[in-house]
Amino acid sequence: MPQLGQLRCPCCALPTPQGERCGGCLQHPPGFDSTIAAWAYDWPLDRLIPAYKYGAELALAKPLAEGLILNAKSAPRPDLLLAMPLHPTRLQERGFNQSQLLADLLAKALRVPVRYDVVERIKLTPPQASLPRDARRTAIRQAFRVREAVSGMHIALVDDVMTTGASLDELAKTLKQAGASRIDCWVIARTTN
Ligand SMILES: [Zn+2]
Repeated sequence: MPQLGQLRCPCCALPTPQGERCGGCLQHPPGFDSTIAAWAYDWPLDRLIPAYKYGAELALAKPLAEGLILNAKSAPRPDLLLAMPLHPTRLQERGFNQSQLLADLLAKALRVPVRYDVVERIKLTPPQASLPRDARRTAIRQAFRVREAVSGMHIALVDDVMTTGASLDELAKTLKQAGASRIDCWVIARTTN
């Protein structure tokens, strides 16, 4: 599997020359505090993850989650795991939430509570992959709503791929506004450019 290398931005896991904070995180500090990514989003993950997500190859959930479990084992333990929520329309189209399935496997392996009803996606946005970088940030604004108390909680957000991080950033900011104290991103793969 494609490795990310040891030197990465401590915030968003983007490879940086000395392992320093990347320019993007310096200029626009994201709502999340750190990121764990199991692998780089290169071959074969750029085939496997879409096959899992859009082709409903559910048997891939376990091997994908296992890479993240290995990395997350030694990380600070969150109070709660939350999956990146899908809009109900998107959930109906796809039939399952790929991030929820991963979060369930992580929760079980690491014995961290996982919840389904804490955040919801209230805005139907075009698939992020179809939008240029700036449009992603605009499209995702105010897309989430927090439904349960998260005050003082350390939360890990589970998602399949981090690209610009716009969705995770917006969700993290929404949770921080609701009182969460720390947000980590746990993703299967990170794009590196
Ligand atoms: Zn960064």
